[in-house]
Amino acid sequence: MLSVAEALERVLAGVPILGTERVPLAEALGRVLAVPVVAGREIPPWDNSSMDGYALRAADTATASRDHPVLLQVAGEVAAGKVADRELGPGEAYRILTGAPLPSGSDAVVPQEDVRRDGARVALERPVEVGAYVRAHGEDMRPGDRVLEPGVVLRPAALGVLAALGHSRAEVYRRPRVAVLSTGDELVAPDAPLGPGQIPDSNTYALCGLVLEAGAIPLSLGIAPDRRDVLVDRFRHGLHADVIVSSAGVSVGDRDFVREAVESLGARLDFWKVNMRPGKPLTFGRIGERFFFGLPGNPVSSMVTFELFVRPVLRRLGGHRSLRRPIVEARALEPIDNPGSRPGYLRVRLERLDGGLGARPTGSQGSGILRSMLLADGLAVVSGDTRIPKGDLVDVILLMSDGELTPHG
Ligand code: AMP
Ligand code: MG
Repeated sequence: MLSVAEALERVLAGVPILGTERVPLAEALGRVLAVPVVAGREIPPWDNSSMDGYALRAADTATASRDHPVLLQVAGEVAAGKVADRELGPGEAYRILTGAPLPSGSDAVVPQEDVRRDGARVALERPVEVGAYVRAHGEDMRPGDRVLEPGVVLRPAALGVLAALGHSRAEVYRRPRVAVLSTGDELVAPDAPLGPGQIPDSNTYALCGLVLEAGAIPLSLGIAPDRRDVLVDRFRHGLHADVIVSSAGVSVGDRDFVREAVESLGARLDFWKVNMRPGKPLTFGRIGERFFFGLPGNPVSSMVTFELFVRPVLRRLGGHRSLRRPIVEARALEPIDNPGSRPGYLRVRLERLDGGLGARPTGSQGSGILRSMLLADGLAVVSGDTRIPKGDLVDVILLMSDGELTPHG
């Protein structure tokens, strides 16, 4: 049987990055930048004051002391959004407000709380250094500075930088569209009364949530019964998406028609089993340019297999540089058991310890126990037939983090 690593390699082979689109900055948060951003202007564009106070020539204040204050004539006032109406002469000061351009002739600012205003004059009792309280032109960005790289996830600061550089739109990668289909005669909508043998369809909601978390767009195809003709029809609706994800109906039961249905639509299936627990029956293939994942039906199995296989594909399609969740080492706070022969992905809660992390299983690890996912911070990766003794280190896939630690570079 294919290992998780081999299966992932086969899944990712040949997954392209989708095209790009230009989106308004206000809608660009969390999107993946598709082009480098090079500054085309200076930020700030001119020297300006970082305080409310007085712009002056530092040289005029060289002799200022408590006993011999320097008196400067206030020649005018300049506020943010205005420019001084004339040059500053020797022995003069200009009243200046935060963000206002320095009047030409001045080279420093003294904050208002450091001077005494006396009618049309200000008195200084200490010398002021050249450049004091001045934000120099270009100190933040200069033309030619490469400030953002392709593949960067646009966070709030990046949106601010783009705006400061004069962009109202960002060139980003298109988000993959993911059709999600739940299959099974037993499934009804969450708010429907439950008839005999029926259960609420929870996979649609958990999987659409995972699609969104991966930065992609979910398109629910609803619930399909275990009937070949209906499955074919629903999957056909999914063909306008980039990826089709179904859950259930991929085991070897009498009513498991998913494989036949996608094959009748021309799917070329690559594999249908992966050596892991939860989640052995997992089908992957392509329908034309599209990717198809037939996930197992058990709620935990469908989520874990999505994490391990679907998410990296969505990340690659969407232009992300980090495809996988980060892996951390944690110390087992109690024994972590994987009794079966297949490699296990066990739900654990993480706790902060002195100098590291501790991992504790979230209770019953049955593949139908959705609460084990609800409580999980991560998946402990444990080989088959293995017990991790209390105190030993175990690798944990972090479910809460996107692995994007550096804002650029
Ligand atoms: P199957 O793969 O069709 O054998 O389904 C495995 C288990 O997962 C069965 O107990 C199903 O009832 C359950 N299951 C399948 N689909 C869903 C769903 N959409 N929501 C909740 N449970 C499901
Ligand atoms: Mg079924």
